[in-house]
Amino acid sequence: MSTRVLLATRNANKLAELRRILAEAGLDGFEVVGMSDVEPFDEAPETGVTFEENALAKARDAARATGLASVADDSGLTVDALNGMPGVLSARWAGAHRDDAANLRLVLDQLADVPDERRGAAFTCAVALVVPGAEPHEVVLRREWRGTLVREPRGENGFGYDPIFVPEGERRTSAELSPEEKNAVSHRGKALRALVPHLRELAQR
Ligand code: IMP
Repeated sequence: MSTRVLLATRNANKLAELRRILAEAGLDGFEVVGMSDVEPFDEAPETGVTFEENALAKARDAARATGLASVADDSGLTVDALNGMPGVLSARWAGAHRDDAANLRLVLDQLADVPDERRGAAFTCAVALVVPGAEPHEVVLRREWRGTLVREPRGENGFGYDPIFVPEGERRTSAELSPEEKNAVSHRGKALRALVPHLRELAQR
């Protein structure tokens, strides 16, 4: 019998990535479903001050509403010269939610006078797993992908701040990496892979 796991997202790429990571880990017996596969429920606004808080709140809401083991993520860009901002505000840094071009432009403007050696940044992703039921269980973990921010956007892949982020050990921006190259090393890929042992445990319950 397979265990249904809800990934609390409408993003088809994130669903595909989790399915692929489970397959690569040899974890069968899981059916990964997304928000469009379950009855709609009210999604609370993201009000946490940390990635972990937001991921956990989303996974708790999803588990409570559906009764399914639920995974949720929260991610963003933390810029050293901006004291870790935009952080949890990454998606709405320039005001409107998910205006990627305006968000990226605002960060570039804010860093205009910051010299190359102080342009360090990291993408961060927190992932939470909430298992409802008689023995409720919660896991939350966080992974980073460090790099530096260039002055002009480059590349067509990815989304958000990818065109200005050059990962450590790379010359290309993350928007110039293929999706496979990015998933192999990214904050989200690492966080989802770190969840695998916990899902393995869930399958054995
Ligand atoms: P979410 O957690 O997927 O909703 O992402 C929040 C925001 O963080 C996005 O809107 C992007 O601005 C930024 N972000 C998160 N992960 C990435 C990434 O892999 N590349 C570029 N931007 C990202």
